[in-house]
Amino acid sequence: MKPLGPIPPGFQAIDGELAIGGKPVSHWTGQAGRTPLFVYSQTRIEQRFAELREAMPDRLKINYAIKANSFAPLLSLVSNLSDGLDIASGGELEMVRATGFDLSRVSFAGPGKRDVELEAAITAGVTLNLESEAEAGRAIAIAERLGLTPSLAVRVNPDFELKGSGMKMGGGAKPFGIDAERVPALIRKIVDAGCNFRGLHIFTGSQALSAEAVIDMQAKVLDCADRLAREADVPLPKLNMGGGFGIPYFPGDERLDVHAVGQVLEAQFAALPDTLADAELFIELGRYLVGEAGVYLTRIVDRKVSYGEIYLVTDGGLHHQLAASGNFGTVVRRNYPVAIASRFDVQPEEEANVVGCLCTPLDRLADKAHLPRAEVGDLVAVFCAGAYGASASPSAFLGQGPAIEMLV
Ligand SMILES: *Cc1c(COP(=O)(O)O)cnc(C)c1O
Repeated sequence: MKPLGPIPPGFQAIDGELAIGGKPVSHWTGQAGRTPLFVYSQTRIEQRFAELREAMPDRLKINYAIKANSFAPLLSLVSNLSDGLDIASGGELEMVRATGFDLSRVSFAGPGKRDVELEAAITAGVTLNLESEAEAGRAIAIAERLGLTPSLAVRVNPDFELKGSGMKMGGGAKPFGIDAERVPALIRKIVDAGCNFRGLHIFTGSQALSAEAVIDMQAKVLDCADRLAREADVPLPKLNMGGGFGIPYFPGDERLDVHAVGQVLEAQFAALPDTLADAELFIELGRYLVGEAGVYLTRIVDRKVSYGEIYLVTDGGLHHQLAASGNFGTVVRRNYPVAIASRFDVQPEEEANVVGCLCTPLDRLADKAHLPRAEVGDLVAVFCAGAYGASASPSAFLGQGPAIEMLV
């Protein structure tokens, strides 16, 4: 037996089935007409924003990193709840443009921005988070050619990282950002070139569950930003402090204490150095805002036994849920929270493996899980599917095609 990850709090049964948005899952699969299906709960997303804003200082602004989930109706909802949006490609810029969001509140990070992407962003008034001196040079030249004043921020590759983070994106040699020691010179260059300097972006990692680690990281980010601004002798109009707030996916994961993080931040904001006194202060989050609001539903198409082990074979799999299969940035595969959605109020009684329909041994949704007895036709729910599910899985693999997505 292998334990399953923790089901996010608040999910209940209606008529014996898992309920989402006040309706049993069969209602949503009926409406969709087929499985697999992602169902995202609007109420859960709204609640998450409300709780987070309550825990954080009023001054702190919250950006949404749209790569976590860019499904158009969800993006529209989240853009109304966010202070800004973070994009990482020209394609994401078009998705944001389609929502009608104010593009001056969008920032564009990511290595390898092509000239056409720089031009589109500068023309739209999007802030570029510069990832290298060469990129800065290209952006300034393109803006000159267009006769526009570009909004430029510098993404810092700091000399520290987010401890215990699932995915490290700062500290040491990295493709992201500009090494801290070279940042003051680039700030001067941007200011001297007459560009609209939009401050610093310091993102150090993802999926941290320890408040202590986040607090430690944020203190270092504020320090680092102050130091670089002083060296450049330019106050910061804006500081994107990064994010990294994680959600519990796996057995034993503990929920991040955002109140503890907010309290320390409140105290720090009350005593900011001159360089940051007038800065707009941001965090940027993806999975924390939408991850737990989504459920992936897939139907069992076969139930079989191999050398004594039960296999529940579903019509879904890693082509929609790469992360749950254990193939998206994890070293050791552990079980996500998974349940038999059509028998949500039934006690577990057998050990079963839940697999996808792809012809590869990588396609696993739950290993040796303790589940109610399930039959062909039953629905399996994979929780924490609101982020890096549909947007981060190889839906073309084996010709399967995308899952349906629904915001309810
Ligand atoms: C991916 C990413 C995020 C969002 O990460 P989450 O772990 O989903 O919160 C935020 N900022 C940057 C720069 C990123 O690359």
